[in-house]
Amino acid sequence: MREKPLSPNRPHKQILKDGKKRTASSKRWLLRQINDPYVQNAKTEGYRSRSAYKLLDLDQKFRLLKSGATVIDLGAAPGGWSQVTLKKVGTKGTIIAVDLQPMEALEEGGHIIQGDFLEAATLSKLADLLSGKKADVILSDMAAPACGMSSVDHMRIMILLEMVYDFCFLSLKPNGAMVAKVLRGGTENVLLQKLKKHFAKVVHFKPPSSRQESSEMYLVATGFRPDKIS
Ligand code: SAM
Repeated sequence: MREKPLSPNRPHKQILKDGKKRTASSKRWLLRQINDPYVQNAKTEGYRSRSAYKLLDLDQKFRLLKSGATVIDLGAAPGGWSQVTLKKVGTKGTIIAVDLQPMEALEEGGHIIQGDFLEAATLSKLADLLSGKKADVILSDMAAPACGMSSVDHMRIMILLEMVYDFCFLSLKPNGAMVAKVLRGGTENVLLQKLKKHFAKVVHFKPPSSRQESSEMYLVATGFRPDKIS
C-alpha cells in the first residue's frame, strides 16, 4: 500500500524541437503532456492514464478501497482508476467498469460494460453483472468533453451526478461510499443537501495530482444511509 506522499519525480522540462507544424493549442497541450510528471510516471508505472494518481490520492486520504470489495467505476476508460481499484480490492474483489468508449480488457476480477450510463440498457447490464449484489463503492470520473462554456459543462456534470446519486439507491450497500467528479462551484446546494441526508459524511476534495488550473474536484460521500428519513 502507498503511504508516502504521491508527489511525482520531476523530470527536466522539455521543449518541442521536432520542427512539426502545430496549432498553438495543440502545441500547448503537447508541451503540457511532455512536461507533466504524472504523465511520465503513469508510463513508467504502467498506468493507462494520469488519472490513476487522482484515485491513489483519494484512497490515501479516505481509505475507500478495501480488499475483497465490489466497486463500480463509471467513466472508466482508458482504465487508470480500474487498474488502481483492482490492485486494492485484490483477487477476491470485483470491479465493473462502464464507459462510452471501448476499453482494453482488465485483469481478473474486472468486467467492462461499454455503454452510456444514462441509458437504461447500460443499467440493465450493470444489474445483470451485479446479480442481486450491491457495491461497496461507486466511483464516477465521468465527464462529457468540455465544450468551453462553463455553464453548459456545469449542467452536464450535474446531470451525471444526479444519476449517480439515484443509482446509489439501486446499487450501493448501506454504509457504502460514493466518489464523483464535480466542477468547482458546481455542486448545487440542493443536491448537496440531498446527499447529506443519505450519507453520514460528504466532503469536497481536490487531489494533489489534479491539475491546479482545472476546476475539477471530487465529492466524497461515505456512510450511505438509504433508509434515513429526515
Ligand atoms: N477514470 C478514467 C481513468 O482513470 O482512465 C478517466 C475517465 S475520463 C476523465 C472520463 C470518461 O467518462 C471518458 O472516458 C468518457 O467517455 C466517460 N463518460 C462521459 N460520459 C459518460 C456516460 N454518460 N456514460 C459512460 N461514460 C461516460
